[in-house]
Amino acid sequence: MKVTDHIANAKDTLLSFEVLPPLKGKGIEALYQHLDPLMEFKPSFINVTYHRSEHVFKKRTDGSFEKVIIRKRPGTESICAAIMNKYDVDTVPHLICGGFSVNETEDALINLRYLGIDNVLVLRGDAAKNESAFEPEPDGHQYASDLLTQVVNLNAGIYLEDELKGTHKTDFCIGVAGYPEKHFEAPNMATDLKYLKAKVDAGADYIVTQMFFDNAKYYAFVKACRDMGITVPIIPGLKPVYSKKQLNILPKTFHIDLPDDLAAEMMQCKSNEEVEQVGAEWLLMQSQDLKKNGVPVLHYYTLGRPMLVADVVRKLL
Ligand code: FAD
Repeated sequence: MKVTDHIANAKDTLLSFEVLPPLKGKGIEALYQHLDPLMEFKPSFINVTYHRSEHVFKKRTDGSFEKVIIRKRPGTESICAAIMNKYDVDTVPHLICGGFSVNETEDALINLRYLGIDNVLVLRGDAAKNESAFEPEPDGHQYASDLLTQVVNLNAGIYLEDELKGTHKTDFCIGVAGYPEKHFEAPNMATDLKYLKAKVDAGADYIVTQMFFDNAKYYAFVKACRDMGITVPIIPGLKPVYSKKQLNILPKTFHIDLPDDLAAEMMQCKSNEEVEQVGAEWLLMQSQDLKKNGVPVLHYYTLGRPMLVADVVRKLL
């Protein structure tokens, strides 16, 4: 079922969770162990992130270096299918521009359709680890909006090969990313919102936000979107903080701010358990407030801490 249908049929705020594909060598059981404690909350859908391959330099026995391409977390499509099969829940695979040609993207979309997947979250992806700025493949997409257009076209039966025009149409519900604290490359919020509106105008059905820790930023973002005529659902993305290191890593990696109160309280903690406790209380406080304000879905980035998220959701319901 489509994310937008889940939202349209809902009488209350829904729940969804985001997971990473298991690291190569770990096996699918690692993912099931992560998801098992979350499934009692009957999430409407599970997102699965996409991780592009990386170039690494491996030392040969003669001391020279060899450039090799590795993918640490393969298999988004098949993992979505495995999750649907095991838990009978809808999934949302993330699709990115980085590392994909338009032909590979078309094939991936066709495979997703064969697997009965109704949703995709289309993203640009970040720069590859060895690049300072995002570089599209020579025959790939530059922006999420270009990838979105390819999905919209396929939904209309427009394939890359003209001869296939009007044959089987896909029917994906398409999500895109939005940034309550602005995407880090955008010169200002107005410009970032202009491009977000362009994604919606080109056919995006809903928006999922980057994590934020101050709900006022989400509400201001939703208002700015509504004021400029964006009417699609805007799903808040929430992440627990569970270590002092994250006070520096999260702003650096995701270009977001942590509120003074949260940072100060965490700095005073004497143990990891205390830090987790503060992070869980903050997440619960955010979730309660968002639910009270009628958000369509609470989307949790569970990455690494399913039990913490499960405890918060149990208290929320
Ligand atoms: P875009 O919408 O293409 O925007 C990128 C930048 O370009 C922005 O600054 C925007 O303002 C600007 N821009 C957009 N269109 C134009 C245009 N036409 N002309 C000029 N400028 C333009 N990354 C992964 O690799 N895998 C994942 O699974 C993943 N999941 C994510 C899930 C969510 C909910 C979020 C919020 C992010 C996720 N990311 C993921 C990270 C994402 O790929 C990065 O944030 C990336 O830098 C931007 O992606 P985007 O889709 O927002 O890009």
